[in-house]
Amino acid sequence: MPEENEQISEDCVFCKILNGEIESNLVYSDEEIVAFNDINPKAPIHILIVPRKHIESVAEMERGDEFIVGNMIKVAKILAEENRIGEKGYKLLINVGEEGGQVVPHLHLHLLGGKKLREF
Ligand code: AMP
Ligand code: ZN
Repeated sequence: MPEENEQISEDCVFCKILNGEIESNLVYSDEEIVAFNDINPKAPIHILIVPRKHIESVAEMERGDEFIVGNMIKVAKILAEENRIGEKGYKLLINVGEEGGQVVPHLHLHLLGGKKLREF
């Protein structure tokens, strides 16, 4: 199914998590989005919210992808509340490209919280 193949990239670590090739600690899953704990957490709560569609970065977003990103933010809000940081506050971060600090070339939203976060 060519349409389905366009949604995944064979060399991508997050696509491998999505298809079960690499294990992760999943904390959320629906037909469009998954979320799992970051392997190298920078805060007591550090969750990555990832679209099932392989979008390389914000810079590579196509028409319609803004709805996916909107839903990723909605999932972040739900997970923040589940982790009891909804009221105290948290940081949502998307790194874009090399100078933006993006290491994994599959769009993802970092949900960071559980302590006072001054820097990103
Ligand atoms: P970024 O720098 O925005 O591309 O963030 C990539 C994040 O993915 C980093 O915080 C890594 O710790 C995290 N990461 C890389 N590989 C894995 C993995 N297999 N499972 C969970 N998190 C990962
Ligand atoms: Zn991918």
